[in-house]
Amino acid sequence: MSTASHQSPSSSTDPIIEINDLNKWFGDFQVLRNINMTVARGEKIVVCGPSGSGKSTLIRCINALEEHQKGSIVVDGISLTNNLKNIDAVRREVGMVFQQFNLFPHLTVIENLTLAPIWVRKVPKKEAEETAMYYLDRVKIPEQADKYPGQLSGGQQQRVAIARSLCMKPKIMLFDEPTSALDPEMIKEVLEVMTQLAEEGMTMLVVTHEMGFARTVANRIVFMDYGDIVEQNDPERFFNEPSSERLKLFLGQIL
Ligand code: ADP
Ligand code: MG
Repeated sequence: MSTASHQSPSSSTDPIIEINDLNKWFGDFQVLRNINMTVARGEKIVVCGPSGSGKSTLIRCINALEEHQKGSIVVDGISLTNNLKNIDAVRREVGMVFQQFNLFPHLTVIENLTLAPIWVRKVPKKEAEETAMYYLDRVKIPEQADKYPGQLSGGQQQRVAIARSLCMKPKIMLFDEPTSALDPEMIKEVLEVMTQLAEEGMTMLVVTHEMGFARTVANRIVFMDYGDIVEQNDPERFFNEPSSERLKLFLGQIL
């Protein structure tokens, strides 16, 4: 991958996501508590924490898959309010990759990649197919273009899902445990694609338990517990100098 298409000319301190005092409830249950977080353009953030701590909910709020009740989220200058136009505008900039791939099973790989560009963005079919092949090439499975998702391995399906997101030319990529449903031998091929994307300058928020990836790729690791950001730091300090008992306990369990 040699293109600079994901690189932003802006300086790396220019925030692309600003979250202020974010609070969210599911009914009476408070799932996010006073979350404050700023993400610089090109920054790679890994979010970790125990199951149920609110990691998925936090990143789902960033592209309005979940609505929040209090606080503000601003993505590339667009405020995520109930304004549907704004929600639409933010979703155009944010790609998301899920644990379960979420490919359309009845469409071929290339059809999965061209569906939204053709029908949502009104890109001419030929151009959409060229873009799709470009990204399939970059995730190293151009030869799978005419197969159906069910004919591919889990690792290949997840790479298709990443390519599908990239076809929409997002400025930010969110990943929610992208390797958790994969057999061990397929985790590496997906992490390699994500590492390349990171090296090209994509802004990335990645929920993962892959601490090797966090150590080598993340600029910052965020630890959540009970809907709270308990601690965040660069990888070096995060692993070597955890300050809270909760993080020490968590690291003891996963490392
Ligand atoms: P994580 O991704 O860290 O495992 P989640 O963000 O998925 O955590 O969930 C945080 C908490 O919110 C959990 O207790 C979960 O059961 C609860 N939760 C998640 N989604 C919903 C929902 N749609 N309705 C009610 N509770 C939910
Ligand atoms: Mg989750």
